[in-house]
Amino acid sequence: MELNDRQNKIIEIVKKEEPITGEQIAEHLHVTRATLRPDLTILTMAGFLDARPRVGYFYTGQTTAKLLADQIEKMKVNDYLSLPAVVRESSSAYDAVCMMFLEDVGSLFVVDKKGLLSGVLSRKDLLRMAIGSQDMNHVPVSVIMSRMPNITYCQSGDRVADVAELLISREIDAVPVVRRKGAGLEVIGRMTKTNVTRAFMDLAKGQIK
Ligand code: ADP
Repeated sequence: MELNDRQNKIIEIVKKEEPITGEQIAEHLHVTRATLRPDLTILTMAGFLDARPRVGYFYTGQTTAKLLADQIEKMKVNDYLSLPAVVRESSSAYDAVCMMFLEDVGSLFVVDKKGLLSGVLSRKDLLRMAIGSQDMNHVPVSVIMSRMPNITYCQSGDRVADVAELLISREIDAVPVVRRKGAGLEVIGRMTKTNVTRAFMDLAKGQIK
């Protein structure tokens, strides 16, 4: 968050003179207490200042970077996930391509007969098979997908920042959001680069969920 000149001056005054009342800050700046009220509210709500009744304002020692890190820490998968696009292992590669177009996604999550996560299919997995000589109608998704246990996934309580880290380090576009079901994993959502970007934009607009 960008502070204006007066807000920065207020922080400097409070740092030197804490505890200091709103009246005293106003005197320093040669303005009325009422003029300062919005700035003091913003600085207190954003965590730069701490207001104690009948004592005055204190500097919390928080830096913008630390406050931003705290906000990022609070962003959880649960608030940013999308519905998953899921395909059965036995579906053909051709059906998978159709589904990608219909659902407008770049990755499909593959489930077994019990509906549990068994793999992930990306656009390039399909392209790789398409440049081979096999017939797309006859190759099942299970043959070309990346499969468990090598699938990277997350859970709804995980931090968005940890998902971003996974997407970067594993060089993938999406992870399924899962919950445990017996010995397997049920797919309940998806987190993609777009979901992480959406979270980033909420942060930029100060609209953390
Ligand atoms: P693309 O290569 O089509 O741009 P990705 O970068 O997401 O898409 O996929 C790269 C490779 O990683 C593909 O072979 C894909 O099957 C695999 N992959 C994609 N997502 C995951 C995941 N969550 N866990 C494990 N492997 C994945």
